[in-house]
Amino acid sequence: MTPGPHRHAPLPAGAARAPRRRALLQAGALVLLLGRQHIARGASIVAVRVWPAPEYTRITLESDELLRVRQHFVSDPPRLAVDIEGIDLNPELRELVAKVRPDDPNIERIRVGQNAPGVVRLVVDLKQPARPQVFSLAPVAAYGHRLVFDLYPQTPVDPLEALIAERLRDAPAPRGAAADGGHALGLPATAEPPDPLGELIARTESQRKSAAAAPPPMTPRPAAHTDRLIIIALDPGHGGEDPGAIGPGGTREKDVVLKVAHLLRERINATTVDGNPMRAYLTRDGDYFVPLATRVQKARRVQADLFVSIHADAFTNPEARGASVFALSQSGASSSAARWLANKENQADLVGGLNVRAKDQHVQRALLDMSTTAQINDSLKLGSVLLGEIGNVGRLHKPRVEQAGFAVLKAPDIPSVLVETAFISNPQEEARLRTSAYQEQLADALMRGIMRYFAKNPPLARSRTV
Ligand SMILES: [Zn+2]
Repeated sequence: MTPGPHRHAPLPAGAARAPRRRALLQAGALVLLLGRQHIARGASIVAVRVWPAPEYTRITLESDELLRVRQHFVSDPPRLAVDIEGIDLNPELRELVAKVRPDDPNIERIRVGQNAPGVVRLVVDLKQPARPQVFSLAPVAAYGHRLVFDLYPQTPVDPLEALIAERLRDAPAPRGAAADGGHALGLPATAEPPDPLGELIARTESQRKSAAAAPPPMTPRPAAHTDRLIIIALDPGHGGEDPGAIGPGGTREKDVVLKVAHLLRERINATTVDGNPMRAYLTRDGDYFVPLATRVQKARRVQADLFVSIHADAFTNPEARGASVFALSQSGASSSAARWLANKENQADLVGGLNVRAKDQHVQRALLDMSTTAQINDSLKLGSVLLGEIGNVGRLHKPRVEQAGFAVLKAPDIPSVLVETAFISNPQEEARLRTSAYQEQLADALMRGIMRYFAKNPPLARSRTV
């Protein structure tokens, strides 16, 4: 749909809807028309949600009918003003004001008011200059129409810098030694402490030249030795608008898998491989939506050595149970169940709410077609040891690694697996997944699997395109 040259004019009450729909808005301000069908006359907001995160903060207005909005972004002081037409201020909308948390990285506050009859004005005051994206989502899953405001900071959060900042924040760690000695594998650290951050920066700097999206410049530092940081990308599934599977007792997949990822991060960060410190990098470290392709991009940006996506399965039959592990397939799924599951997991972007008009979507898709046979072979090895370890703490759904076209496993240069820790739809497994004891057992099992993989496939032996 292409915006025409028409100008917006207020219509008298009772005017026919068709001309109103045709009156595409292009009156100086940035204006967005969100669909043709059934522009709301008596639409109401049924829910409002705010999802704060350093990467971006999302505001969602869910309504029973499609909403039409006009938006203006004012840069000084930074704020987004949105006029929503065809609605009146209701208690749900007023709730939005109180839903902004003081620690929201992006939003200072939200104001709402009835601007004119049938027009609600919403002003989002921002803490820093932002790049707002406003878009609508058609009803999907349990959601009605959604109007979404994504507020990205003007200076994007860089995954690598975030990782480094986190590393520095956690300092001083006992450098060059297993932090607590509890999870170390291989040789004790050398007397001369390595400089993993310098190495990491140097590696990344040299690879950055060939990267598609160039991050802000950093000071290159030469690599003086072979020690380096071993980075494990942990990918807690779902988040934000996408709860993932929900157990019969109300447990949400997105919450459980984030907990397991945090526990696994603790273990990874306290571990060395042959004297090289390990570091976990979370593609999602909070309750917000991260598109599948962005998860892959983040892992590539930090040059992760491994990628482990963590999920909890669900099926219509509550009897289904046990953990399973998946790798990517280039040539069809290894079973119809695997194909079904991959399709289901790949729906996450729909439920989570992807702005399909965002301009980097093309790049992301091109990237996803570069998967290699070598990656899949390594992923199968990793998946196999993980499956073996999980089988020691819980029941397995399938005794071998399955394969299907999971979008999140498509980093062409990182061994990538997706772990379905258990069936959250099974009442017994749901109850178990909720306990910190089982979450810890799972994290321990995954940690042992990762170390077993590295014992046979040392990370330093991996060839890198530097
Ligand atoms: Zn999932």
